[in-house]
Amino acid sequence: MQVLQHSEHTLKKALISKNPVLMSQYEKLDAGERRLMNEAFQPSSDLFEPITVHSKSDWITSHPEDPQDFEQFFTDHNRKAPCPEKHIIYMQSIGHILAFLKKKKPKDAFCIVGITMIDLYPRDSWNFVFGQASLTDGVGIFSFARYGKDFYSSRYEGKVKKAQRTSSSDYSIFDNYYNPEVTSILLRRSCKTLTHEIGHIFGLRHCQWLACLMQGSNHLEESDRRPLHLCPICLRKLQCAIGFSIVERYKALLRWIDDESNDTSGAAPKNSSDQVNLKKPVEAFKDWREWIIKCIAVLEK
Ligand SMILES: [Zn+2]
Ligand SMILES: [Zn+2]
Repeated sequence: MQVLQHSEHTLKKALISKNPVLMSQYEKLDAGERRLMNEAFQPSSDLFEPITVHSKSDWITSHPEDPQDFEQFFTDHNRKAPCPEKHIIYMQSIGHILAFLKKKKPKDAFCIVGITMIDLYPRDSWNFVFGQASLTDGVGIFSFARYGKDFYSSRYEGKVKKAQRTSSSDYSIFDNYYNPEVTSILLRRSCKTLTHEIGHIFGLRHCQWLACLMQGSNHLEESDRRPLHLCPICLRKLQCAIGFSIVERYKALLRWIDDESNDTSGAAPKNSSDQVNLKKPVEAFKDWREWIIKCIAVLEK
């Protein structure tokens, strides 16, 4: 195992930059927020750790690309940021999305993300994908089928006996497909993929600074290894794109973990048969919960 240890100087420059405008912008941030983000370059930080490389097949060794520091993010002209007219991230279950996406995205949508438990390319001859997003259209579709614990085991009986699509617009053939059990591991993996991909829609490139949600990943094992949180450099990018108080954000994440059941009050259509009241399995979020509490302590010190 190799540890990618950037120097204090490199991380500080990636986060704060040497650009006087961005430096003074950083100085104007709330003192607690700066204290938390400065953890990026504290060698003894127990909140933000260096990236570890476990094998040659890991993303960072097999996909060399330029790292993106905050200044490069900030000055990227292709970067999309929400505006008051388009500021909502819609999620739509797949049963509806194929028809739905043909129509216009809601006017206030920053992006719309389709999610499904169905494997997106279920035939042997096809390569599968975890998800696909069009950054220019602000549209994405993700499958969580391969995140279930049984997918790669012999218990997986993925394909229906016979795929019988009656017409090109009929997607009911998916009805018999494998549906993984909704476990807390699956929920955590799904949250990671969704937030990682939505991060790309906001213009965040793959992170090469610290262990971070925005690290690229080549395989499930590597994806499991990357944390659910953003490192300070990516956190500053996201904050710049959306604008939020970090402490309020972390408290909202805590509320989401601690909230007993699924929140069905969102954009889901009323009276939909898809709306099931499942209990949210959050055991796999325990460590992350502790991590958030530590961050809030730093923010409110
Ligand atoms: Zn990515
Ligand atoms: Zn990062």
